[in-house]
Order: sequence, then C-alpha cells, then structure tokens
Amino acid sequence: MEKLIMTPGPTFIRENVREAMGRPITNPDLDLEFYDFYKNTCEKLQSIMHTKTQVLILDGEGILGLEAACASLIEEGDKVLCIENGIFGYGFKDFAEMYGGNVTFFHGERDHGINIENLENFLKENHDFKVATVVHCETPSGITNPIKDICPLLKKYGILSIVDSVSSIGGEKIHVDEWNIDIALGGSQKCLSAPPGLTFLSISKDATEAMNNRKTPIRSFYANLTIWNDWYENKWFPYTQPISDIYAFDKAIDNFLDDKDALQRHERYAEACRYALKECGLALLPKDCHSNTVSTVLVPDGINYKDLFNKLYSEHNIIIAGGFDFLQDRIFRIGHMGENCYEEKLYITLKAINTVLNELGFNLKGDLHKKFANYLS
Ligand SMILES: *Cc1c(COP(=O)(O)O)cnc(C)c1O
Repeated sequence: MEKLIMTPGPTFIRENVREAMGRPITNPDLDLEFYDFYKNTCEKLQSIMHTKTQVLILDGEGILGLEAACASLIEEGDKVLCIENGIFGYGFKDFAEMYGGNVTFFHGERDHGINIENLENFLKENHDFKVATVVHCETPSGITNPIKDICPLLKKYGILSIVDSVSSIGGEKIHVDEWNIDIALGGSQKCLSAPPGLTFLSISKDATEAMNNRKTPIRSFYANLTIWNDWYENKWFPYTQPISDIYAFDKAIDNFLDDKDALQRHERYAEACRYALKECGLALLPKDCHSNTVSTVLVPDGINYKDLFNKLYSEHNIIIAGGFDFLQDRIFRIGHMGENCYEEKLYITLKAINTVLNELGFNLKGDLHKKFANYLS
C-alpha cells in the first residue's frame, strides 16, 4: 500500500500534478508565452482568494511569503501589532523585528480563536500601528481565527493586515477584498496539494502604496515585493522562475477549481472527524474555532506520542503529525486538507489510530472509524 501522508502539509499530490511537473520546459525569461502562463495561474489564485488585487507566486516555501510581506511593509521603528494565539502567530514577531518593527502583542488564548470583542476593546485604546499580523489557520493548534471580523476592524483604524493563510487557502473560505485583507499569503503544499516550494500572496492597493512610499529601502532583494512592480508590462522576472513547480501548481489549482464542492468537503469531513474523536473519549485542543483543515488532538494520559507515531508509521504506513514548542509531545494532528480530505483516507487513518491506541492500552469508547462513517451516513 502507498504511504498515507495525513499531515497538515505536505499533502498527497495527484498523478496529473506530478505529470505536469515533468512537462518539457521553456526559457521562462525569454519565452513570452510563459509570462501569460504565470499571469493566468495568478488569475486562478485571485478567483480562489476572491480578490481583484494583484497576486504573485514566489519561489520559496510559505515562510518566504510571510517574510516578504514583513520585509516589504515594515521599516525601522514601525509599530507592529502581532495578534497571536499560537506558534505561528507568536513567531511573526521574529520576522517583524528582523526588519526593524517595534512589536506589541495582542495575546489570545491558545485553545480558543481570537476573541473579537477583546480585540475590539484593545484596539479602542491602542491603535497606533502601521501593520498587524495574524494567522488564519493556526496549524499546530487546529484553530481557524475569525479573520473575516479581524481584518475589517484593523482597516477601520487604518492598520495594514498581513494574514498567514498558508494552511487555509483551499480548505476554508477566504474573501480577500470583502474582508479587507492587505496581504494574504498561502503555500503550494497545503490545501492546494502541489509539491512544496512555492508561496503566493495577494497585495492590496493600500499595501502597494505603503511599500512604494517607504522612507527607507527594503532590506532584501528576494523578499522585496516592489521588484515585481510592472513585471508583466516589462516582461521581466526578478529571477528565473521555477517553471516546473509552477506547471505543477497550475495543474493542482485546476484540480481544486474543478471540484466545486471542495470547501464543503473540508467542512463535512472535519466535522465528522471531530465528532468521532470526541465520541470515543479523546479531547481536541481547541475549545472553539475548530479548523476544517487539521484536527489537533490531546495525547491521552498514559500514551506516549512517539509510540503512537512509530506504530502508525511502521505497522500501518501512515504518517501523522505531532506538536512542537509548547505542544511538544502533548498533541497529535490529523491533516484533512486538500487531497487528504477524502472519506476513504480518513476512514483508514482513523481505523489505524483506533487499533494503535487500543494496543497501547487506551480504551476508546467505541470505534473511531465507525463513528466517523456513521456521522457521514
Ligand atoms: C505550513 C505553514 C507555514 C509554512 O511553513 P513551511 O515550513 O514553509 O512549510 C506557515 N504558516 C502556517 C500557518 C503553516 O501552516
């Protein structure tokens, strides 16, 4: 049996995507057709993100998107608000400070989505920020934050928003223009199920204006988003495009767009998964705002995460993810994003987890896979 990678990225890659990666290439700088191909792929991303604003694809993992947004918007002494309720949200601070930002935190609770009333009250007193950062789906915790409410609130105070939506685009609703998101960034390897290696981001008019009107130059070349100004008109890329990765990504995007039901599928299987886990006596880390792309489950008392992982891997050929930082050894995670989000795959995974937990001496109250299937029937 093929290995089942049930992690929250990278996800399974379909055969037609792998084939697209093997297509003959052209010279992406000199062959003008490629400029249109790249532009067309960006336009498909615009439709997924519901935006008319410019979208770019960059050659680097999701982290590059996050760093490029910070590098391009933040300059020495700028006041930056990091809205955090988890590892990625907290980690934004490092990137903001690297580019001279003066960081203030808004701390949420780590097992809850960002509370909008608390944030509203905080902003009433403190709103002198140029930029705010927030994570849409906090992947390690399995929490999807209400950016639909957060970003318009930031806009009301004239604060530019950078949203890390790496693990949500393609698995959760995102309406960049309607929700006033200035920069939303994603990654190829998560819900869109392309090979790892690319990031993409939308850049609003306000964000473009802020970048073009900086007092100091951007301290980077690779992470400088303004070097892309007029790339299409000038038929000029700042560096050789990873053309094979983009071919694959474009095909994966087509697969996503062909599936009109993708977001409902994520919602439904995520719900069924959470139902099965809870019914059988396991506890989820989040108390609300559960992610539809990843479930984060507390490792039950008496069970060692490493034993769970190792047995699933060696005896069932399934890879799940664990925790790091404050979640080290405390949780296990099932990714149900993109090509992983199908009933069969989740059934097989839950059945294997069921077997392993029972073997390790944890008595589940029922069968995970059966509860899952019952919920869906
Ligand atoms: C996966 C992910 C990233 C990108 O991490 P990489 O190591 O570059 O894959 C960034 N933010 C979030 C929330 C993620 O889930």
